[in-house]
Amino acid sequence: MAKNIQAVRGMKDYLPVDTAIWQCIENTLKQILNSYGYSEIRLPIVEHTSLFSRAIGEVTDVVEKEMYSFKDRNGESLTLRPEGTAGCVRAAIEHGILLNQEQRFWYIGPMFRYERPQKGRYRQFHQIGVEIFGLQGPGIDAELIMLTARWWKALGITEYLDLELNSIGSLETRTKYRSELVSFLEKHQNLLDIDCKRRMYTNPLRILDSKNPDIQKLLKNMPTLNEFLDTDSREHFNNLCSLLDDMNIKYHVNNNLVRGLDYYNRTVFEWVTTKLGSQHTICGGGRYDGLVKQLGGRTTYSIGFAMGLERLVLLIKIIKPNINLISNIDIYFIILNQKMQSIAIQLVEKLRDAEPTLKLIVNLEGGKLKKQFSNANKYGARIVLILGENEIKKEQILIKNMLTGFQQTVNQRDLLTNLRILL
Ligand code: ATP
Ligand code: MG
Repeated sequence: MAKNIQAVRGMKDYLPVDTAIWQCIENTLKQILNSYGYSEIRLPIVEHTSLFSRAIGEVTDVVEKEMYSFKDRNGESLTLRPEGTAGCVRAAIEHGILLNQEQRFWYIGPMFRYERPQKGRYRQFHQIGVEIFGLQGPGIDAELIMLTARWWKALGITEYLDLELNSIGSLETRTKYRSELVSFLEKHQNLLDIDCKRRMYTNPLRILDSKNPDIQKLLKNMPTLNEFLDTDSREHFNNLCSLLDDMNIKYHVNNNLVRGLDYYNRTVFEWVTTKLGSQHTICGGGRYDGLVKQLGGRTTYSIGFAMGLERLVLLIKIIKPNINLISNIDIYFIILNQKMQSIAIQLVEKLRDAEPTLKLIVNLEGGKLKKQFSNANKYGARIVLILGENEIKKEQILIKNMLTGFQQTVNQRDLLTNLRILL
């Protein structure tokens, strides 16, 4: 027998038990984004490969190892987007919507990275993110952090998330620090692992982020990036911290936080949890004031973040293990044979006109009454409507209240009035 075709490794199906929770979470998040005056932007899933190598950086993990790139039929190299910022900046430049304007965007959708699949890490995953253009001061940095804090509050998970904050300064700061770091690492070559040795001359700042405890120990003897910060970046960071203090938002300054993508400068932040093992970052972001220019636009202050929805859902399920948001059906409509299909459909369409939020399923196939009742129970229907030969003849319909067992036969034209009493 032919082997069944299965989903691609690391790419999950989301069945109704999942999508009910997802929809509920997404609605909460979107409502808060809209309440800050941010607008949705929808962007293609496929972009030119060069966009990501230019924006994210040639020697980052994402570009070096994680991209799904392919040649299309024209021989052009395209890539399934691994993140949303590059595409958003590309689009904003392309449509000329950044010149002397502020823009506040949010997006939601699938991202693709060729990583080793494990809990909280998939090859197709979903992010909801924000990109803001044209605002220079630390006020917007604080606003983004407050918005995310509001998300956690609305979802009831505040106590499970900690905010890590850092400033990585200007490009010049990093260049200065980078040469200092390389000379320090050169002196301790014998203590470096293969990954660090490879990164030492390509992307040494990422070594700060290393998960290897020996490397972290070694780095304790190294001056931190913070000591090299330029005055403007330091002032920006201090002002951000005092805004967060005023807003009563707790944070932990982590001088080793550098983030995985090259485009960041000044503020970087991550919301982390101890509940998801090594996939502990739920949400990460920061400033990227140089990216618009780097991609061909005019210099534009920019900041954004992205949150991984799979990790958020996992966290919520760990905290609330009994969560089950599949909402029940209100009415299940039983017909005794297919001749009644047309009348049943006409009746329920009228109900849908009158009560648009009602959840209503019609059994379109007819069949045994017992089977149909068990279906109604499976859907958790509160009310069952039954159309049999007798009811059709007299233009009546039977209403059964599944909670009390009470049933009554009413005229079809009085159906809505009678249902309203029950609902
Ligand atoms: P990590 O260090 O866990 O690989 P990252 O720094 O690569 O994360 P970002 O590029 O900052 O992640 O993406 C923002 C968020 O998107 C992450 O905090 C995480 O919640 C989510 N995310 C990133 N990669 C994956 C993935 N492969 N599967 C599921 N979620 C992911
Ligand atoms: Mg990663």
